[in-house]
Amino acid sequence: MHDRLDRPLRSLRLSVTDRCNLRCQYCMPEPDYAWLPRESILDFEEIAVLVDAFASLGVDRIRLTGGEPLLRRDLASLVELLAARPAIRDLALTTNGVLLARQARALRAAGLHRLTVSLDTLRRDRFQAIARFDELPAVLAGIDAAAEAGFTSLKIDTVVMRGRNDDELEALLAFGARAGAEVRFIEYMDVGGATHWSSDAVVSRREMLARLSGVYGPIQPLSGRDSSPAERFLLPDGTTFGIIASTTEPFCAACDRSRLTADGLWLLCLYARGGLDLRHPLREGATHGELAHLISTVWAMRADRGAEERLGSSARDVLIPVAALKRDAHLEMHTRGG
Ligand code: SF4
Repeated sequence: MHDRLDRPLRSLRLSVTDRCNLRCQYCMPEPDYAWLPRESILDFEEIAVLVDAFASLGVDRIRLTGGEPLLRRDLASLVELLAARPAIRDLALTTNGVLLARQARALRAAGLHRLTVSLDTLRRDRFQAIARFDELPAVLAGIDAAAEAGFTSLKIDTVVMRGRNDDELEALLAFGARAGAEVRFIEYMDVGGATHWSSDAVVSRREMLARLSGVYGPIQPLSGRDSSPAERFLLPDGTTFGIIASTTEPFCAACDRSRLTADGLWLLCLYARGGLDLRHPLREGATHGELAHLISTVWAMRADRGAEERLGSSARDVLIPVAALKRDAHLEMHTRGG
């Protein structure tokens, strides 16, 4: 199952809620948001039916996202449902970590393979300034609990913003090494929700590498990236880390990812303005075969390369103005799972 640019359908980011318990500057900086109606949120059985349709077309990697996925009640039951499907070879979850200490053990027991925790700073005052809540201690406790629960390939995702946290790259790498987690630095992206974005605030991959090699010495690129958004590197002291250069060096050519919102809208690109509504056919009784046919027809037409097109736009500014975001929750990054 390949799209028009010969990219396979392999990886699905599954948002289980549009709610979040933080308000990070690069994602949810506004005072108010429009939320998805409660009755439109897919239940776990509905999600499993859609996952089976995707899996029949080649999807074998699922990442649970939000909003903040740990806000979804009884999430471990969904993990159990998905982990029981042999076609799903990789089942991961991205969380802000606030509720992780309470849930890590249950998620592991339910069969979750991998965890990524977002962490943009190790300074409590800064955490509060970036995320608007004083939750750094809870996040750090969550990372400890995840390691104790047996998540061995933990990742820490850090959005790097000039003047806000870009002086903490080394501290975060040292923290990751101590915590047994690989840190991935993400360029600040101009997606929906990033209403304060400006190109001046982006610290590019190139700049990060120059700074880090000035501190640590020569940095070696590691091979085997495949379709992963992160390029991996090795420091002379043996520490590995990643960079996700979505803004300055996008990787659309190898993109096998799509996104399903909590209310069943299937988006073919992080930058897509619209998507395929799967909730209505599902609730109207579409069969497995009909759902798979819908999905495969749309994927076969896919030619999205949102980040590459943004890179080519001359006057790059905020992607979607606040007024448009308020009219359509599906344009928000917290709805489409980052
Ligand atoms: S911008 Fe779209 S096509 Fe490019 S990597 Fe991101 S999701 Fe894939």
